[in-house]
Amino acid sequence: MANVALRLPENVPGDFFVDSTCIDCDACRQIAPETFAEDTDYSIVHRQPQTDEEIRRAMMALVACPTGSIGTVAHHDAHLGIDAFPELIAENVYYCGFNAESSFGAWSYLIVRPENKGGNVLIDSPRFATQLVKKIDAMGGVRTMFLTHKDDVADHQRFADRFKCERIMHADDGAQRLGIERVIRGGDPVELDQDLIAIPVPGHTRGHMLLLYRNKFLFTGDHLAWSPNRQTLIAFRNACWYSWTEQTKSMRRLLGYEFEWVLPGHGRIHHDTRRKMKAHLQRCIEWMERV
Ligand code: SF4
Repeated sequence: MANVALRLPENVPGDFFVDSTCIDCDACRQIAPETFAEDTDYSIVHRQPQTDEEIRRAMMALVACPTGSIGTVAHHDAHLGIDAFPELIAENVYYCGFNAESSFGAWSYLIVRPENKGGNVLIDSPRFATQLVKKIDAMGGVRTMFLTHKDDVADHQRFADRFKCERIMHADDGAQRLGIERVIRGGDPVELDQDLIAIPVPGHTRGHMLLLYRNKFLFTGDHLAWSPNRQTLIAFRNACWYSWTEQTKSMRRLLGYEFEWVLPGHGRIHHDTRRKMKAHLQRCIEWMERV
């Protein structure tokens, strides 16, 4: 829980506040933009929530915050935020909330499917919070845990122990060292089942992979995200730990796939038609080749 003594002076006066432990991960600004905004190296409360729905969204941000940097002066029922997760994005795809600090607040997702359709898939690791684990259990547990890359593994071991799921990760990101059950090797895509394709995309890290579900939902880790400022798809030039050249090549190979959703670990979610997604991707590649 945030410490009122560390309340940032840039917050507007009132109930909700962000303290100086904020790591500027952007989660609160995505979840409750009417309340939270960016201010240099932090998020702040730029406007106090007014309506019940705005308070609920602000409480969701409080729960998702990986560092517990959001606080309130007044008492609020924490279940307002807790019970909202996992939050439905579309169809059977959910955002887990409960972002983990060890993943620098990366977003994780849950695909909910019947057992005979392959079972549930957890993409990257949220915080292993009891309330979330119980909810996931009630939604059918986790059959498969897909880890896009080594930065966003967080509490993967605890989820694996709890749900006895099979974890999938690429060898080049240290999968064997982490005790991963199914290790992907090489640069070819791997069809995991009739709806899921693992796509190696070296660049951000050597063993980064994407997960494509139903040729519609693309879980992109730290490879690709939407930029609200540029209004197009982007890659993170300043957070490319392995090779920008390789990442650009990986991005070009993505042109061979169809998708309507980009669901990243960091950066913004985006939904659009397949045709427009391809145009954004092309624009992103042209930009990557220039910088
Ligand atoms: S979610 Fe927490 S750590 Fe992330 S930007 Fe907001 S206050 Fe900061």
